[in-house]
Amino acid sequence: MAIHLFNTLGRKKQAFAPLIPGKVGIYSCGLTVYGRGHIGNFRAFLMADTLRRMFEANDYAVTQVINITDVGHLVGDLDGGAEKLQMMSEKTGESAWDIAAKYTALYFEDMKKFNILMPHVSPKATDHIAEQIAMIEAIEKNGYTYTIADGVYFDTSKLSSYGQLSGQSLDEKEGGARVSMRGKKNASDFALWKFSPSPSSDAAVQKRQMEWESPWGVGFPGWHIECSAMSEKYLGLPFDIHTGGIDHIAVHHENEIAQTLAARNCLEANFWMHNEFLQIDGGKMSKSLNNTYTVADLETHKIHPLSFRLFILGAHYRTPQNFTWDAVGASHTALGNIRNAVRDLPKPGEADAESMAQFMDRINDDLDTPSALAIFYGVLNHASMERSVKSATLLAMDEILGLALEDVVARPIMIPNAVEKLVADREVARSSKDWKKSDELRDEIATLGFIAEDTADGQKLKEVW
Ligand code: AMP
Ligand code: ZN
Repeated sequence: MAIHLFNTLGRKKQAFAPLIPGKVGIYSCGLTVYGRGHIGNFRAFLMADTLRRMFEANDYAVTQVINITDVGHLVGDLDGGAEKLQMMSEKTGESAWDIAAKYTALYFEDMKKFNILMPHVSPKATDHIAEQIAMIEAIEKNGYTYTIADGVYFDTSKLSSYGQLSGQSLDEKEGGARVSMRGKKNASDFALWKFSPSPSSDAAVQKRQMEWESPWGVGFPGWHIECSAMSEKYLGLPFDIHTGGIDHIAVHHENEIAQTLAARNCLEANFWMHNEFLQIDGGKMSKSLNNTYTVADLETHKIHPLSFRLFILGAHYRTPQNFTWDAVGASHTALGNIRNAVRDLPKPGEADAESMAQFMDRINDDLDTPSALAIFYGVLNHASMERSVKSATLLAMDEILGLALEDVVARPIMIPNAVEKLVADREVARSSKDWKKSDELRDEIATLGFIAEDTADGQKLKEVW
């Protein structure tokens, strides 16, 4: 079945053709581990996970790389600000290395909670300093660099194609830039290697904790070079697909493309896919705006991380999605209902080919998850589909949706004897119209983890979800 993906490079939907038949390499920009990943970040990783699952369902062998940015990312993404790990260390008193280790571990835990498949490689920038230095040397050898007081810079005016991803010319970028030049030749020039501040009498300037020797002096790599160097190492050049949030188009990904072209004379990746933001009150959710929520906040609000996953699937990745507790709460209820409905299904038989074809047609069309979900619900609520066909079809769809339905399909809830007894007592109370007692018993049942629902066929038990 044909796969179409929206390519930011060229700004249109294109038929996907792999570089090597049957294989696909995907690189996604990962978390900057100076804090716990927020649910906006996980919108980006859920998109990458859905992309991987789509390819696997189409029988591709996928190599997925999501990096971990543990050095080099500067506040504001441009090259004037503080480096994020060092900044957080100065703020908290913890070492930059400890901060990186702590939030990297949490990131892996959170990925599991959202049922995101582990990437095949999760390379850290600090483990790839040699590769980054080698790439900067190649860029230098090809004549694209110059050195100023605070580092080695990429001269964007030397690359005629610079701006191809965002569609902005150098002039437009310069016109819009609000950064001070600090000795740079062009506003869009960016740091490849930053020098550590020299030991200073100024007490406010703290010693850098993450620094390395290099041919240009002691310092640390710029943020963009890590992705050019690590994607080349693990996927080769060019590779198939690069993903990230839309904030990366104009600076980070433009600069990655420039570096790889300057060093290797090769386009880094054929397809560039970008997810829109998870928003709050119509604006970006971001750490620097201090309006973020994490998986811990979801759990405090009794929203299961998989319910958040369902919420994210409800919007196409290329549309902005507004986060509200009401909306995510509705997804939580919906997933509880789905889980409850599939528990009573029999063991899976053969999936319904026609429903699967419709579902794959939507998913293969640039990950149209809202339409695919509608087809999923159509099967779930189908009145006459043979029930073992239904469970097989829903499970096959869930290979892509990732709602962990394999844990619940054809697994009726086990009701402990103590709960059975309370349900029986409540039946007696109900038939004698003792509503007070009936309500008390319902509360008692709830404390044991079950919801007693009164239906036309008597009480029905649901798990508390
Ligand atoms: P960072 O930790 O800033 O390097 O970001 C990691 C990934 O999350 C990048 O692909 C960002 O573009 C993406 N991202 C950051 N904030 C949001 C958001 N509010 N919605 C969707 N993606 C985001
Ligand atoms: Zn990146």
